Amino acid sequence: MSLLKGKTALVTGASKGIGKAIATRYAEEGANVAFTYLSSVEKGEALEAELAAFGVKAKGYRSDASDYAASEELVNGIVEEFGSLDIIVNNAGITKDNLLMRMTEEMWDTVINVNLKSCFNTVKAAARTMMKQRAGSIINITSVVGVKGNAGQANYAASKAGIIGFTKSVALELGSRGIRSNAVAPGFIETEMTEVLDEKTVQGWRDAIPMKRGGSPDEVANLCVYLGSDISTYITGQVIHVDGGMAT
Ligand code: NAP
Repeated sequence: MSLLKGKTALVTGASKGIGKAIATRYAEEGANVAFTYLSSVEKGEALEAELAAFGVKAKGYRSDASDYAASEELVNGIVEEFGSLDIIVNNAGITKDNLLMRMTEEMWDTVINVNLKSCFNTVKAAARTMMKQRAGSIINITSVVGVKGNAGQANYAASKAGIIGFTKSVALELGSRGIRSNAVAPGFIETEMTEVLDEKTVQGWRDAIPMKRGGSPDEVANLCVYLGSDISTYITGQVIHVDGGMAT
């Protein structure tokens, strides 16, 4: 299929996990893909070749999503190199978990900056280009935790709840310019990261989900394909869960 043919997408944090799946599905659907990574340099460089094998233009950028000036430089570079920017997937994210009593200011600030400020950084930098195009799809990856809260993740939950407020505000401000803004809320998605966790703990999480299993990165990526494509042109301001019914 080629649902994204001719479109240029930026996917942040694509060296592994969900971001890698989104970048890969996007390339498979014909999008030209710019993506970022920060510490996983080898993986990032390898992905560039993997994406290009789909016959699309692909370029990886080592860029810190929490850095405003770097994000502006990134977006300007992509527009220059690719000629347009049609889809932004703000996926880069981290956790620094602890109970509130043990959470340091640094743990709070870092998570808010990488997860939430990063969304402002790319959208602010790309808004003018998308407004000129009178089209664009912004997809921000939030979490079920941003909707429900989670003990031990006050910083992460706040960053993900903030993403929802940001997403809806952008939808209200830029809808008249043909720009859509939606949030995707994954539940428990099984990645390389969860493979190393204790099997009994993970099984406990699976059992608590109505569908009795974790999701796959591809299941999140498929929703992002839909939201990035022209088969979702009247959908904006939404928070769509990919969670096997977890938040129900
Ligand atoms: P992951 O496997 O840890 O991947 C995170 C990605 O973000 C990596 O590519 C990492 O790149 C990048 N990244 C981290 N900090 C960055 C920074 N400052 N600048 C640029 N890139 C940065 O995580 P994941 O599980 O795929 O999660 C992806 C997104 O989904 C996150 O926003 C997460 O909060 C959300 N989410 C995940 C789940 C889940 O169950 N997995 C559930 C709900 C929501 P480097 O390795 O190169 O640093």
